[in-house]
Amino acid sequence: MGKLSPMMQQYLDIKAAHKDHVVFFRVGDFYEMFFDDALEISKVLELTLTGKDCGLEERAPMCGIPYHASATYIKRLIDRGYKVAICEQVEDPATAKGLVKRDIIRLVTPGTVIEGDLLEEAKNNYLASVCLGDDSFAVCFADVSTGEAKLTLVSSSSSAADLMSELSKFVPTELLVDAAFLQSKELTDFSTQKLHAMLSTYEGENLNPAEARSCITNHFQVAGLEELKLPEDPLVEQALGMLILYLNQTQKDGALRIKQVEFYQPKEYMEIDLTARRNLEIVETMRSKEKRGTLLWVLDQTKTSMGKRLMRKSLEQPLLNVAKITRRQNAVAELSSQPVLLDDLREQLSGVYDLERLMTRVIYQSASPKDLRALSATARRLPSIRQALSSAKSEELRGIFERIDEMEDVANLVENAIVENPPFLMKDGGYIQDGFNQTLDELRHLCSNAKGIIEELEASERERTGIRNLKIKYNRVFGYYIEVTNSFLSQVPEEYIRKQTTTNSERFITHELKELENRILTSSEKILALEAEIFREVRGYIATRTDAIQQTADALALLDVLASLADVAIKNKYVCPQIVPDGRIRIKNGRHPVVEQMIDLPFVPNDLELDEKDHRIMVITGPNMAGKSTYMRQTALLVIMAQIGSFVPASSAEIGIVDRIFTRVGASDDLAAGQSTFMVEMSEVAHILKHATPHSLVILDEIGRGTSTFDGMSIAKAVVEYLATNRKLRCKTLFATHYHELTSLEEELPGILNYNIAVKKRGDDITFLRKIVRGGADDSYGIEVAKLAGVPDKVVSRAKEILKQLIADGLVIREAPKLEESDQATFSTYSSPVEEIIKNTAMDTLTPLEALNLLYELKKKLTM
Ligand code: ATP
Repeated sequence: MGKLSPMMQQYLDIKAAHKDHVVFFRVGDFYEMFFDDALEISKVLELTLTGKDCGLEERAPMCGIPYHASATYIKRLIDRGYKVAICEQVEDPATAKGLVKRDIIRLVTPGTVIEGDLLEEAKNNYLASVCLGDDSFAVCFADVSTGEAKLTLVSSSSSAADLMSELSKFVPTELLVDAAFLQSKELTDFSTQKLHAMLSTYEGENLNPAEARSCITNHFQVAGLEELKLPEDPLVEQALGMLILYLNQTQKDGALRIKQVEFYQPKEYMEIDLTARRNLEIVETMRSKEKRGTLLWVLDQTKTSMGKRLMRKSLEQPLLNVAKITRRQNAVAELSSQPVLLDDLREQLSGVYDLERLMTRVIYQSASPKDLRALSATARRLPSIRQALSSAKSEELRGIFERIDEMEDVANLVENAIVENPPFLMKDGGYIQDGFNQTLDELRHLCSNAKGIIEELEASERERTGIRNLKIKYNRVFGYYIEVTNSFLSQVPEEYIRKQTTTNSERFITHELKELENRILTSSEKILALEAEIFREVRGYIATRTDAIQQTADALALLDVLASLADVAIKNKYVCPQIVPDGRIRIKNGRHPVVEQMIDLPFVPNDLELDEKDHRIMVITGPNMAGKSTYMRQTALLVIMAQIGSFVPASSAEIGIVDRIFTRVGASDDLAAGQSTFMVEMSEVAHILKHATPHSLVILDEIGRGTSTFDGMSIAKAVVEYLATNRKLRCKTLFATHYHELTSLEEELPGILNYNIAVKKRGDDITFLRKIVRGGADDSYGIEVAKLAGVPDKVVSRAKEILKQLIADGLVIREAPKLEESDQATFSTYSSPVEEIIKNTAMDTLTPLEALNLLYELKKKLTM
């Protein structure tokens, strides 16, 4: 048996300290993986598995990737839940004595990536740190790629539910958790299965309070939390401290981008739990997880990446504060009333680069010359953007105008220092402008004019010595030299140093020549070093302007979102909803913002009226395919649009602030988690009944469908009754059902109103009118819809027979379906046998005993 080679020993030592990570081990131009990592990752990344001599008898399994293509491989691994440790050569292999030193320079996890290639441009990437107390928790969200950090502290008796609701607002890709969190199956299941987030722990597991405090005070250079405007609370300290330490642990100075932390109250935003977010298809569709077909797809006409991220965030966190909503509405109104100004602004915004992520690269010193040019190009757009806003009236637009820094210093510096089209790679230089630095100019002159300079020296030496055929030549052995033929040797000056004698001549060098040679030969190296140094200085200066640039970035993102909302409002003919204080929702001619964009036929607008008193619950019946779901979702989407400050598709709308939206719609995607459809449905109903408030909007689409008809109907009815009578709930509810029995509730309980979506029936054909009207529907028309959908005729007519029989047996209270001619032979009567007997009995002539016997007979018929 051999002994492990030193390099392999080095690998194993490093791997032992990073067991949870896939170690990318740098060897020359490759990252290599060995042993178990190689066996597993070669399959995941579809790489060829080979072997490497490692000193032992058997070769070590190995696979590798070229270092310059590593970003895409890292992304694939991170997306599949792996953590990657990047191990670099930390000394120059050319000068290293013995084995090159290697070290882990970065741990890449989903929540700590900063490279553009690994991130989605239109989406924030949050790392969350969570600390649980007895009846409270603190959670901090940070996006290192943009510098955003937010923190909240919640005291609550149902803290697990509230924490899940907070996490749903930000959808972090990685959660940094403590031991208490890991003990809760509910929380770990939610995070991994619903959010698909990676769970990580801080190395020290639980940070001690003093350590957390000093980490915060050092990082932010403050005396304590108060100075950061954060509550003095051990949980807050723990959550923030853990986040900063983790970032610094995973990458050098990883927390550098986090300059401030904003404290927020959960009550600032509308709560939309994960199920409702998915059902309503706010930012991605349920099935294919795409943007097309979502509310975001309709509203996001932004021009910048920063605007795209803010639009998404706004939709994920609609506002509750009326003043804030109205401020946004006023800005959208002002922009949409001036289409020329709006177009001009949007045109300017289209040239604005991602300032937030550019600044991240500036701060982490990975910004390239191209990045700096992108900054200056953006800066040059700012004066005209400000000019366009200079006469704005609305408070929000005025605020944006105030917050934009024109960054003239940055633009001037970059334009003077960096060439207009810098090369992609810095290693060959050529990115600093001529004329910016005198030394650099001289070096460049020397480098590109070496031949001419040597020729000049040659001429002056000829003249000085009188040696007419003196030549300066170059060879690889001793560089530049002076050659003098034998006939002129007597004229060679004293300071010439003889180096070589050939048949016809002698070769000399001089101190002056060697100095020049040195300058020429090292000028390229010096140029590269000096360019890099100048570049670092320029980048360093820009880093000092982070606060102003970040503020400008925030202002531009908001402007982009408002301009996009204004543009969509004009193009799609939206109106400004009125935010009302009394909790009513009144919509005239409302349209579904997404469906109206997707269908070829004209969308039929509908009205809606809900309040907190007599119009609280709408029981909506109507045939399949009539448009019930569309109508209900449309209501929720209009409320969300109104609460982000957008205009809405309607002829007029009054919206009372909604604190939470709940939905129970269709099949769920939890089946994979091992629950049955019905179980999921019922737990969602339970959740709604527990958490809805009088200001909530609840959408229930056909609950009780997943079980037997009678159980389902009973549950559906009991739920409506509970919603109508429970004093604490009193939420506004849209309830679609096929159980026509529920329409009787309108008469029995206050606040319930029946509606149906009208259809026109002629013979066996139905036409969907898509209009919501008062009253219950007379039929489900399920069989007619099945026919429309192309179910074979035989099945359709058999379904009719079965339905008719059920009605005849009194099992379904409904008008019997009309049979076609061909069906008539089978059934000639529509009443049940029990009904027939009762109808044909002369009640007045019955004796009590006969009546009792008749009752027995009827009962027997029913149970047959
Ligand atoms: P089911 O009971 O089978 O779930 P439903 O009553 O909920 O059906 P929807 O899914 O809302 O029906 O609507 C069916 C289709 O009808 C939609 O995909 C849409 O294309 C169209 N539609 C719905 N409402 C309207 C409308 N107001 N104007 C035009 N088309 C509409």
